[in-house]
Amino acid sequence: MKKIAVMTSGGDAPGMNAAIRAVVRSGLHYDLEVYGISYGYKGLCEGDIRKLDRYDVTRIISRGGTILGSARYPEFQERKVREKAVEKLNELGIEAVIVIGGDGTYRGAQALNEMGIKCIGLPGTIDNDISSTDYTIGFFTSLQTVVDSIDKLRDTSMSHKRCSVVEVMGRYCGDLSLYAGIAGGSEFIITPETGFDKEILINGLTSSHEIGRKHAIVVVTENMVNVHELAKEIEERTGFETRTTVLGYVQRGGDPVAFDRVLGTEMGEYAVQLLVNGKSGRAVGLKAMDYVDYDINFALNKKREIPNKRYGIIGRLK
Ligand code: ADP
Repeated sequence: MKKIAVMTSGGDAPGMNAAIRAVVRSGLHYDLEVYGISYGYKGLCEGDIRKLDRYDVTRIISRGGTILGSARYPEFQERKVREKAVEKLNELGIEAVIVIGGDGTYRGAQALNEMGIKCIGLPGTIDNDISSTDYTIGFFTSLQTVVDSIDKLRDTSMSHKRCSVVEVMGRYCGDLSLYAGIAGGSEFIITPETGFDKEILINGLTSSHEIGRKHAIVVVTENMVNVHELAKEIEERTGFETRTTVLGYVQRGGDPVAFDRVLGTEMGEYAVQLLVNGKSGRAVGLKAMDYVDYDINFALNKKREIPNKRYGIIGRLK
């Protein structure tokens, strides 16, 4: 194998650049030519591919987003469209692609792998919703952003004796909310894993108010409940004046924290080693502080093990 490529796809996540840099640098170490594909599977099909050298990835380790750009491109689910991608790669003599993204990106990689292009998937998403790894590239940076926001909201909540309802990203995974809630000292954390019982929340907040607590922070994972309506009901029924904050896209941006840089770098280097050792169709993960790789099919179908012990803590922190 002489030529490999790297690509980011789906939602961007801080630390993707560290992974790109590691793929380029370790690829060169093994005497490979490394190519960068711009804007995910869309760029791949359009032939938006350029050769990268070591100086193309200088000083990107500390930058958020992705220097390659990312895109959503549902058309890639069609075999005919993927054939174009294979054609572009064949034209350039590129045999393997390292893709960095979420589970949608893994599905694309699996489909491409079945068509003869060697693919390796790296978990890059702030949501931490990939079951084949304990932590995804980007999760810890996003977590820090959410915790910083909760700290700021608490200042105002306490000054005005208010309840703050904070909606956090995560798609259908509560990890970001759980960890942010714990680190931010929130008393009420609502996640898909724990489910949501409105009456329990209202009763909890009512007793908090009755015993004279000056404020409350309620952290809620997106896609669970309309937070504006919830805030209205909390205000009507608990005695707390209540405000809502939907954190939105600020959670995705920013310079990656050190751990995401390390994770991106080590996973990027691990992916190149897999290819050098003749492996493909693998998804890289971090499990119990060790790097592992699974068959992409297995990784996609693996059920997420909910860390019960961690989620169980919520009810005991009030
Ligand atoms: P993420 O990778 O963050 O989960 P998406 O779900 O949007 O983000 O997936 C990223 C891209 O992966 C999609 O825009 C599409 O190009 C490709 N993709 C997703 N699902 C499939 C699939 N079943 N087959 C082929 N490609 C897919």
